[in-house]
Amino acid sequence: MTKVTWHPDTALVHGGSLRSQWGETSESMFVTQGFVYDSAEQAEARFLNLDPGFQYSRFSNPTVTMFEERMALLEGAPVARATATGMAAVTAAILSQASAGDHIVAARALFGSCRYIVEDLAPRFGISCTLVDGRDLDQWRAAVRPNTRVFFFESPTNPTLEVVDIAAVAEIAHAAGARLVVDNVFATALYQKPLELGADVVAYSATKHIDGQGRCLGGVVLCNEEFLEKHLQVFLRQTGPTMSPFNAWVMLKALETFSLRVGRQTETAAKIATFLEGHPKIERVIYPGSDSHPQADICRKQMSGGSTMIALEVKGGRDGAFAAMNKLGIIKISNNLGDAKSLVTHPSTTTHQRFTEEVRQELGINQGLLRLSVGLEHADDLIADLEQALGA
Ligand SMILES: *Cc1c(COP(=O)(O)O)cnc(C)c1O
Repeated sequence: MTKVTWHPDTALVHGGSLRSQWGETSESMFVTQGFVYDSAEQAEARFLNLDPGFQYSRFSNPTVTMFEERMALLEGAPVARATATGMAAVTAAILSQASAGDHIVAARALFGSCRYIVEDLAPRFGISCTLVDGRDLDQWRAAVRPNTRVFFFESPTNPTLEVVDIAAVAEIAHAAGARLVVDNVFATALYQKPLELGADVVAYSATKHIDGQGRCLGGVVLCNEEFLEKHLQVFLRQTGPTMSPFNAWVMLKALETFSLRVGRQTETAAKIATFLEGHPKIERVIYPGSDSHPQADICRKQMSGGSTMIALEVKGGRDGAFAAMNKLGIIKISNNLGDAKSLVTHPSTTTHQRFTEEVRQELGINQGLLRLSVGLEHADDLIADLEQALGA
């Protein structure tokens, strides 16, 4: 029933729907581990992939398949596979294609757990890793070795919203015979399409904007058929980081409102960034949709909108940042993001506490830095909340 000519808004409502014999309007949640076969012959044919259908929910499940199909349509990707969390998606995207003796090049500004995968976990299995400043193309080029297989980064980065030139890094990766994996969580599929820019694999934490209402954990990997068949499919089936049908159902229904939510959150983020830029208590504001972004030209080249995240540095260091956070009313203190509720976090004492002060300085995470995830509340209420919290 899926039409490739649909606009994303239509695909987000109808894409991937599989109706049972009851003709339900809203997609069903198939809470089942297994499936029964009409005959021994059918079971045999299904295991030989000659009979279409389901075998076991670690491999696939109708509700999860609907979510995957809808995500593939949104991204414009040939195929998608859902995972239990965003970290399961990133881990599978990278490790499914790497073996002992291989080498990874990754940007050093990464979500903390992503950095653990490439910097700590992969080397334990003989996969070496070089970290580079993702903004510096010469560093990507210089890091290439004969055994480099994977390039990995996120853009914009967490939490300082630096951007990496996706097309340029894809070209360097391909010239080196490596694949490029992009974590596209902060930009979202609404504003950035890494596959069109040359990336080979895209990973999301569906926990963020895809659910967008702070409920379920989830992840998704998007790629072409060849990567799925050669690397990803067998890795996911045998290691089992499967998304549950319940979470897939929540995500599937959340996608119906994805572009409305993320679109509104982005409009509000732009208003808040403008307000903050003129505020006397603010040292600097980093927002990918703003002309003042240090890499505004790259933002404009590869993103069609600024998305929902703002980094702001409050005057007065840690004390100034903590005082402002503690006075906020509507905006809640939480390390999550992409939620309908606006959330603020102080990266240097929470999400990036694990790093040494030296690494934090290298990443631009100083004591006054706050990361704001803009929600669905009215822009005027959020601005009023920030105004009273920052004081005159
Ligand atoms: C949250 C996040 C992840 C991890 O996702 P989980 O669903 O928490 O496992 C990975 N990358 C980025 C950029 C994230 O923001």
